[in-house]
Amino acid sequence: MNSLYRFYLISVVTLALSVSGPVITIEAWTAQSDKSPVPTVETAVTIDVKNFRLSGEAFIENQSGSPFTIDVGQLILGAVSIDGAEITPSITDGRFRVTELSGDSILHIRFHRRFRETDLNKHPYQRHSLTGSYISPQGLVLLDNWCPTVDGLATYRLTALVPDDFSAVSEADTVTVTPSGTMHRYRFHFPHPRPGISLIAGPYRISTIKRKGLEISAYFFPEDQHMAAKYLEKSIYYLDLYERIVGPYPFRRFAIVQNRGPTGYGLSTYTLLGQEVTRLPFIVDTSLGHEILHSWFGNSVYVDPGQGNWSEGLTTYLADHLYEEQKGLGSEYRHQLLIDYQSYVHGEDVPSLSDFRSRTGRTDKAIGYGRSAMLFHMLKMRIGKPAFDQALKKFYSEFCFKYAGWNDIETIFARVSRDDLGLFFHQWLERTDVPVLSARIRDEMTLPGKKAVALELMQKNDPPYSVRVPVVLESSCGNYRHVVDFNTRKKTVVFKTELLPKKIILDPELELMRSLSAGEYPPALSRLFGAEEKYYVLNQDQQGIYGQFAAFLETLGFSSRSPDSISDHFFSSNTILFLGDHGPTIERLTGKTPSPVRGAKITVRANPFNSSQVFGTVKSSSREQLRQISRKLLHYGRYTSLTFRNGKIIDKETTPAASGIEVPVSGDSVHGIAAADLRTLQSIVDEISESTVIYAGEQHDLYSHHLTQLKIIKALHEKGHEISVGLEMFQQPYQNALDRFITGKTDEVTFLRETEYFERWRFDYRLYRPIISYCRKNRIPLVALNVPAEISRKVARQGLMSLTEEEQRHIPDDIDWTDTAYR
Ligand SMILES: [Zn+2]
Repeated sequence: MNSLYRFYLISVVTLALSVSGPVITIEAWTAQSDKSPVPTVETAVTIDVKNFRLSGEAFIENQSGSPFTIDVGQLILGAVSIDGAEITPSITDGRFRVTELSGDSILHIRFHRRFRETDLNKHPYQRHSLTGSYISPQGLVLLDNWCPTVDGLATYRLTALVPDDFSAVSEADTVTVTPSGTMHRYRFHFPHPRPGISLIAGPYRISTIKRKGLEISAYFFPEDQHMAAKYLEKSIYYLDLYERIVGPYPFRRFAIVQNRGPTGYGLSTYTLLGQEVTRLPFIVDTSLGHEILHSWFGNSVYVDPGQGNWSEGLTTYLADHLYEEQKGLGSEYRHQLLIDYQSYVHGEDVPSLSDFRSRTGRTDKAIGYGRSAMLFHMLKMRIGKPAFDQALKKFYSEFCFKYAGWNDIETIFARVSRDDLGLFFHQWLERTDVPVLSARIRDEMTLPGKKAVALELMQKNDPPYSVRVPVVLESSCGNYRHVVDFNTRKKTVVFKTELLPKKIILDPELELMRSLSAGEYPPALSRLFGAEEKYYVLNQDQQGIYGQFAAFLETLGFSSRSPDSISDHFFSSNTILFLGDHGPTIERLTGKTPSPVRGAKITVRANPFNSSQVFGTVKSSSREQLRQISRKLLHYGRYTSLTFRNGKIIDKETTPAASGIEVPVSGDSVHGIAAADLRTLQSIVDEISESTVIYAGEQHDLYSHHLTQLKIIKALHEKGHEISVGLEMFQQPYQNALDRFITGKTDEVTFLRETEYFERWRFDYRLYRPIISYCRKNRIPLVALNVPAEISRKVARQGLMSLTEEEQRHIPDDIDWTDTAYR
């Protein structure tokens, strides 16, 4: 494409940019003889950092003569003229249409803009908000809305006067610098059509290395210059990697440029990384490669703004996902994408992937990066790696410096793989649900010399998705992997095997975009922050430490809820974050968790009442410790528990989760004991007699069970052990009545009346009589174990949270929630 744009000097024009500003000279230019298919824009600007201002002029030509639109955004325009004759453009929403510009005619626009006052020496905290364009005495970043641009593609050439202690960067294959008074004049030349242009400048130290005719530079602030070498070395690694995977690097220069603001942008010929970002040790292994890959996808193959953004998903898949896959952690990475998706994407108005343009929040990210990366993974699984790799190279070479949309990707991948991908792309791009899969064993069969299992696959979705489900059969002679094409609500597949499988797992490597089963969806911070309705609970007397943090939670969509309004029902059906101490009610679920000494801790737990919910706790030693973590928390969505000290993580935990949907195989659940292993009661008593607590189970109405219990009590007593017998059928307030009976102070009738046995337990007393009589005769103390029936009834009806403080005293401090049937 280079030959199309040979520029030559047609005239030298001297222009006064502003009355008091410096005078710069620019050379207007035009294409030689070929008709340029897109407009050409030459811009000259002067930067005035003291006044946060820029002023300049643009010369626009349009060889093709086709009408086009100019975006002037919030710029303040001076004179606008065509070939010297002033015109008055009619501007709507910052744009105006140009219909009569052709041949060598030049549209000339003067403009200026003043930016918000940004001085990081006076206001260091301003740097956190510098994600877009700004001009400051410490540097400037001009990304959009700073000079007139053409809607769609155009070729740009830029001249910029910047303070002479700054170095400047823009999209450019060639750059020249000349002094001009107290300023430096930069000329940037980028020979390919682009959707716009940027300008960055600051007091950088520049380190440069060469690689095969390519100039690679690091523009780092003086205090960070020591990191440049590592960034340069890693850049070479990524450039080599992506030249192998995609095709030749499309530019002659590449630079890593630091920004005072917290950005991570990939642009043509450079990447703009926040200063604080570059200091994080893992960036060279993650984001740097991602941004460099955008040189191919996004910054030479452009995203067609009308068609949805495919480049973040493709870049995530070929960068972030690839790096994990190279470490053998591909399925773990995909698992995390699915956890994020399930955490953040729900509710009525879920956007489709084809709606994704750019990331504005966690939901967009889970769709535009996560679901999109999974689309490319499923595409590779479907058409195979050789076809995928070949199609990727073709896509790049055919669309370099052009707009491309999802339909172009579909066309090229379908052509290369000779596969009809229409339904595949349609369902992953347009649908807003994800497959909800499950399976059960319908039958196990023994055939002559073989076994067989009939597996029924089910999906809840209507209409059903068309998916290829990996199914793994695990048996003692090995694992067998199958792929089942599944596009109905139900499908039965028969697998013939040597042995019956011990386990069947659907999609154990998480290769499908789908809903995670309960076992695959661990408690994690993302589930807390991503919940659609979420609450925090704070006691008034702890406002001092947690009040400010509560206000931060409200900006994330949490609502306040008073401690006494939390019923069991509310607790089990909502996502709640408890701030500070909440007494025994919550401690019973979490165990005693003291606040960290000088620090803050946030923990997420599975809700014991409802496996689809989580709840969280936050404990902090001070308000300051919480202030230091609030901005960071959202970045740590994958963790179950995090402990910070002075804003730094000192301890982190993740809960392990299952990979794949496990299908129980019926034969697996039968347990037995070999006849030879049967033991006598006596040998069991011998073994347990040294234990402090011995549990003896029973079915209440089986007399034989009670006689066995008596045998155990007798055996222990006869061995000379001092024992007491705890009984479930007596409630704690009646302990005195038991004591009086055992010590012979009351008779049996009085004992039964005093303990209200017939109102409170009701099972035939004769079932228990032999044990109780034996204990009385031998003065073995009886202990009433149960809570009062009034409390157990209240808990059953209104839940644990409904108990008063007085009633709470009857409940143990720790409750084991692991037995799902019992709770
Ligand atoms: Zn990206």
